[in-house]
Amino acid sequence: MEAYPKGLIHCPICLVLDKCWFNNILKPELPQHENCHCMVNNISRPIPNINSNAKCDLKKFTDYIFSDKYAWNGKRDLFEMLGFTIKDSQCLKEEYEIQAVRKYCNSNYKLGKLDMQGQRIDIDIKFIKNGRNLVFTSGWMVRPKGVITNNTPLAD
Ligand SMILES: [Zn+2]
Ligand SMILES: [Zn+2]
Repeated sequence: MEAYPKGLIHCPICLVLDKCWFNNILKPELPQHENCHCMVNNISRPIPNINSNAKCDLKKFTDYIFSDKYAWNGKRDLFEMLGFTIKDSQCLKEEYEIQAVRKYCNSNYKLGKLDMQGQRIDIDIKFIKNGRNLVFTSGWMVRPKGVITNNTPLAD
């Protein structure tokens, strides 16, 4: 028996969550709505860089954090205060990816906003710079099958 006419079973939000991996206690609410047909399948904990990856576009640093265009938001000042410059973009990108995938796989994230684009999560990135411990909260989007992509290296 069909509870819903064909074609209306999956809404955009359910579709964007399809095959996305979450910790069972840190996942989007289910059911999302009345007549939601989504199901949870259990998988074993993902392994960083084996079946799970974090991707941070280099441009998040070269064309955003360190760009003149967005200097007004104060994020560049923050990074520069810590001694980072645009030349560190590749290094920062790699460090973000290493820490983020590890924390995602260890369920060390916070659930953020969920909409038609997907489920956002926040992940703390730690740096030790000149003897100081620093924590930057970064924003990521959960993609299917163990992938997360960086939205912002430093959330507002
Ligand atoms: Zn739905
Ligand atoms: Zn659903």
